[in-house]
Amino acid sequence: MRKHIVAGNWKMNNDLPSTQALISDLKSKEITSDAEVMIAPTFTNLFHGVEALKDSPIEVIAQNMHYAASGAYTGEVNADMLKSIAVNTVILGHSERRAYYNETDDSLAKKVDTVLEKGMRTIFCFGEELQDRKDGNHFSVVESQIKNGLFHLDGAAWSSIVLAYEPVWAIGTGETASPEQAQEMHAFIRTTIADTYGNDIADNVSILYGGSVKPANAQEIFSKPDVDGGLIGGAALNADDFFAIVNAF
Ligand code: PEP
Repeated sequence: MRKHIVAGNWKMNNDLPSTQALISDLKSKEITSDAEVMIAPTFTNLFHGVEALKDSPIEVIAQNMHYAASGAYTGEVNADMLKSIAVNTVILGHSERRAYYNETDDSLAKKVDTVLEKGMRTIFCFGEELQDRKDGNHFSVVESQIKNGLFHLDGAAWSSIVLAYEPVWAIGTGETASPEQAQEMHAFIRTTIADTYGNDIADNVSILYGGSVKPANAQEIFSKPDVDGGLIGGAALNADDFFAIVNAF
């Protein structure tokens, strides 16, 4: 059966002292739900995070990685570097990376291949822009993002894939998709996967929702049958808020 997951994407926030302080706050909290909990600090603080959370159920994950094994890619980080510090899960395709760093379906498909080759796991992000929704194109945009990024995979690969539907218009804006809008899209995504890979695989993929999830709305969003958790931005930077969301199942 698919898992509940709550992952905090810290983005480009928190230097080392702030990372230490937030991790120590997180360690003082109790997980009372059945959610798997992950945090994604910035690259420079991943190693500290892994060390500090060694005896904790909280997994430290990365916000991005390059698809190449190594080489002349100034400023980039590869899969082996992450694995060598016990980071085995990576967020790919976040809308900020698609928008500001020209990440395309093609480059993301290559990153996904590297994740699988290296025995890692990914939280694969996608979602429509406001104009797509206004034009009524949100389903076709999401369908093409997941098909182009992931549908070259074989069925077995799906056990290493977590999906995160993040409508771009809801990220960091305080505007949340309604629980009904989230459910409608998550059900569509699951059906799209089932049509190609069958019900077993579709039923076992965790599909997270991301976009202004807060303690006040998490429970209602997570109560929807096809919403298996959340990818959390702003609210992940405060331990009380993050844990209110973690424990909202
Ligand atoms: C995100 O960046 O993935 C995100 C969902 O951000 P926020 O929760 O701040 O909208």
